[in-house]
Amino acid sequence: MSNMNTSMGAHVFCIANQKGGVGKTTTAINLAASLALLKKKVLLIDLDPQGNATMGSGVDKNAVENNLYEVLLGEVSISDARVRSESGNYDVLPANRELSGAEIDLVQMESREARLKQAIASVRDEYDFILIDCPPTLSLLTLNGLASASGVIIPMQCEYFALEGLSDLVNTVKRVYSNINPDLQLIGLLRVMFDTRVTLQQQVSAQVEAHFGDRVFKTVVPRNVRLAEAPSHGIPGVIYDKNSRGAKAYLAFGKELVQRMRKEALKQTARAGV
Ligand code: ATP
Ligand code: MG
Repeated sequence: MSNMNTSMGAHVFCIANQKGGVGKTTTAINLAASLALLKKKVLLIDLDPQGNATMGSGVDKNAVENNLYEVLLGEVSISDARVRSESGNYDVLPANRELSGAEIDLVQMESREARLKQAIASVRDEYDFILIDCPPTLSLLTLNGLASASGVIIPMQCEYFALEGLSDLVNTVKRVYSNINPDLQLIGLLRVMFDTRVTLQQQVSAQVEAHFGDRVFKTVVPRNVRLAEAPSHGIPGVIYDKNSRGAKAYLAFGKELVQRMRKEALKQTARAGV
């Protein structure tokens, strides 16, 4: 039961939202660490030249020998470039400013949107979950992420116009699904930096539920200063202060995701008649 997914390798999930500063990296780091606490083998891929997921995992982005840039160019494999997050107990494929050059280099390459997918194939069996922290763009980098993934997780803040902002992303996901990646699913929307005292946030939250139904995760991540402090120590929030409200929420989110995947797998088994 626990190894239901072994035969097809890891779940590969993009944490994406083209809007900046909505909590993608915080979600990627803390989900990686909470899945590791649940004994899952996790690889976190930093697909953002800002390298925040790398630094927040306690890995110095400027001191690493190799990074995702060289992997995308085909110079090294993921097994050569990955490093361990000792604080989070998962593997990291690091990124730094070099990666911004990939956007230009990739354009001239063959199957430019499939470079990351090809690289992931060689390590997919080693993990239960591979999480991809996307940059705040709908660029060729993000396209590589979406082309590699079996699912997308969208962190969002419940603000005015949030739904309008989501439609670009949802349309991109649909286009990638129809044109290059028939495995891609919208796994769910995660409400983050939530403040229950703000009436507008409650209203938007209700709208999101009405619109996306069970594609909205039950777990809601509150605004919590401990989550914001943790990256400067290179420690995931769920480890840095495990009793904080933010940590508890991300731990609950990890569990909810694992449960959801288990349910999906059971449904598929039933459909296949096994
Ligand atoms: P970018 O688009 O630049 O990649 P992002 O979507 O990855 O940004 P984060 O870097 O995760 O967003 O978060 C933006 C800021 O908000 C960071 O300073 C982070 O520490 C803070 N933050 C994220 N989630 C929370 C939270 N639940 N409570 C308080 N602060 C948070
Ligand atoms: Mg980020």
